[in-house]
Amino acid sequence: MTANEMLHVNEMLHVVNPATGEPITTLPAASADDVAKAAERARQVCDAGVWSRLHVRERGAVLLRLADLMERDAEILARLDSEDAGKPITECRTGDVPGAIESIRWFAEAADKVFGRLAPSGPDGLGLMSREPVGVVAAILPWNYPLAMTAWKAGPALAAGNCLLVKPAEATPRSALHLAALAAEAGLPDGVLTILPGYGREAGAALARDPLVGALSFTGSTATGRRILKAAAESNFKRVSLEMGGKSPQVLMADALCYGDELIDNMIEAAFLTMGQNCTAGSRVLVHHSIAEEVLERFTAAAKELVIGDPADPRTRMGPLINHAAFERVAGAVEAARAGGARIHTGGLPHGLPARGAYYPPTVITGAPEGSDVLTRELFGPVVTVETFISEDEAVRRANATEYGLAASVWTRDLDAALRLARVIEAGVVSVNAYSEGDITTPFGGWKQSGFGGVEKSTNAFDQWTREKTVWIRTR
Ligand code: NAD
Repeated sequence: MTANEMLHVNEMLHVVNPATGEPITTLPAASADDVAKAAERARQVCDAGVWSRLHVRERGAVLLRLADLMERDAEILARLDSEDAGKPITECRTGDVPGAIESIRWFAEAADKVFGRLAPSGPDGLGLMSREPVGVVAAILPWNYPLAMTAWKAGPALAAGNCLLVKPAEATPRSALHLAALAAEAGLPDGVLTILPGYGREAGAALARDPLVGALSFTGSTATGRRILKAAAESNFKRVSLEMGGKSPQVLMADALCYGDELIDNMIEAAFLTMGQNCTAGSRVLVHHSIAEEVLERFTAAAKELVIGDPADPRTRMGPLINHAAFERVAGAVEAARAGGARIHTGGLPHGLPARGAYYPPTVITGAPEGSDVLTRELFGPVVTVETFISEDEAVRRANATEYGLAASVWTRDLDAALRLARVIEAGVVSVNAYSEGDITTPFGGWKQSGFGGVEKSTNAFDQWTREKTVWIRTR
């Protein structure tokens, strides 16, 4: 479907630079009808077998060419995400884009190394178990890691032989569109990867209800995840995997300061990467009371040093929030905490920041009232609370006192304590002595209200995009 074919009837999608408020581009937004037509077309392409029945190594070769083309266009891709999402260009160059390329390349190489199984049956039969592509599948994406999230889904979905429909977030459609153009250049058959820029309430909702979509992988907020699950239940029971929000703890045991500046640098990255608009943001620091004063002082000082400014400037560490609604949400929660008796060590209401764009400074809070939004809600902004604990049990209780369970980090040189904590903290990923989501070989997915139904990264990611089949062969 070309942009021109959609022009007459569609609502428009306005892509705006969050740093300047200036329009970048206007695109026709995919309607529910466009989604239905794209799913129909994908079904035909699937049935024709031009991709699903292509030898797995040939599929891999196309995806490897795509990864090479992404390398060629790495700077273009970095700029698209930086401009659309207001992300610092250095983050896009060093994190998002290399991570996206790695995802496409790794899944291209992994596709022909995933084997089926043979059942331990008796002499009368042979049970062969294999994983087969689902067929038409879909991904609905957030705006905070536009290219990286597209690649996390497209890598395994395409390598497994599916036809994929992608709905990028309203604010950030351009890197996914560029990726699709590169995929065509790499030789991906027409109709195997379709990007549907559009609004969630229209195009996203249509994908979630579409009867031809067999699996849908969603990354975004918990509220939207709930709607998608309901739409799947009310339509064709498509398989749904949900990657949602978080309120992740950073647990610092009494000896954590032995890691010195490395600890503080990691805490800063955990808290303020992508201006805290990061699903695994370490937005709750839990620190042993004996080192709390020094940690707070050093962490606050480092937060004050972060360069806030134009995302296009390579020195910038903090750009604007995605929009003014996000600013209101973050500022409202911080002011409510202050009114409730919390102390703001740095940040809070912005002064002296760029006049345009929803800039909000890195903010460090102690003494937040029990149950306040800064302690319990995913604010999706550069706001960190610092709480103290006395015993390990108290640290665990506080760490788990959230409806989310996406990530956590633990800092200690005591191996026993690290392992004890890593095992009892309720989160899909616990990093020890680092802020990390692991690497491409390790599964990434949430517990509790952070998600379920499948993981990203690692060979386990193929499970989202394939169905298990048993073939029983009588051998008597
Ligand atoms: P969001 O839920 O508002 O939107 C996500 C996507 O869902 C968008 O493409 C949107 O258009 C679409 N959508 C909205 N309403 C819909 C509906 N009714 N039906 C179908 N689709 C609909 O989230 P966001 O603000 O774009 O992203 C921020 C959220 O994403 C945060 O909660 C963050 O934690 C989460 N996130 C999670 C991960 C993870 O891997 N767990 C990664 C990145 C972001």
